[in-house]
Amino acid sequence: MAGNIEKSHPANSLLREDAIPSIWCPGCGIGTVISTFVETLEKMNADLNKICVSSGIGCTGKVADYLKLNCCNETPGNAIKCAVKFKLKNPKTKVVVFLNDADFIASGADDFIEAGRKGVELLVIYINNFIYIISEYKVTPTTPFIRTIDKNLELPFNIPHLAKLSGAQFVARWTPLHVRRLMYSITDALKKPGFSVIEVVSPCLMYYATEGKIGETIDRMRFFHDNTVIKHSEPTENLDIRTQDKIIMGKFVDK
Ligand code: SF4
Repeated sequence: MAGNIEKSHPANSLLREDAIPSIWCPGCGIGTVISTFVETLEKMNADLNKICVSSGIGCTGKVADYLKLNCCNETPGNAIKCAVKFKLKNPKTKVVVFLNDADFIASGADDFIEAGRKGVELLVIYINNFIYIISEYKVTPTTPFIRTIDKNLELPFNIPHLAKLSGAQFVARWTPLHVRRLMYSITDALKKPGFSVIEVVSPCLMYYATEGKIGETIDRMRFFHDNTVIKHSEPTENLDIRTQDKIIMGKFVDK
């Protein structure tokens, strides 16, 4: 009987049901990235005992709480440090770090660059939601515009370029619309022996959609479709979002 069919989330196998429902807004790209990550692990038939997830604070910081995987979750700005420590103690484990603006450039950039320079085998998935404000007067370096724009003198970083200069062996950028391509990139990156970085451009719905900058959730997908272009191997110095008519997506470094 159709009415008796139990419905379950496709990513249930790796979700901590006791922690669900999540705090994430319906349609937020974080959920899309996590379900793509879970699906990728299942498709790869990955040994889940050999996967560890690290995340920091804010909405993205909840990733480690919701997954049935080895996790290390530390204080703000320490997600990469914690991941590196875990990796050194468990060299056979793949460590995946989920970051947002505050964990990353604002307070974890030195750890990011050091991990890249040392070639630590990590996969960093940076969900760029362009929102983090540390205080009314201090916007993070990846937040280009928001209510406090007139007070933000920082310019947003070109993340793929920073990743390449830091020594990443694999660098890609996608949006929550490009889930299949994101899955291919996660698969490729998890097979790399070195430092890998994937940026997912995913503006926060609370700030951007509700203020009418991108429209409703479905409009955001149309926005991604109409305003992105795929250019694999594009030199990373050309990937500054501010200088592009269309945001360039693709796989830029694959050593
Ligand atoms: S839409 Fe914004 S506030 Fe909502 S979960 Fe996503 S990042 Fe957080």
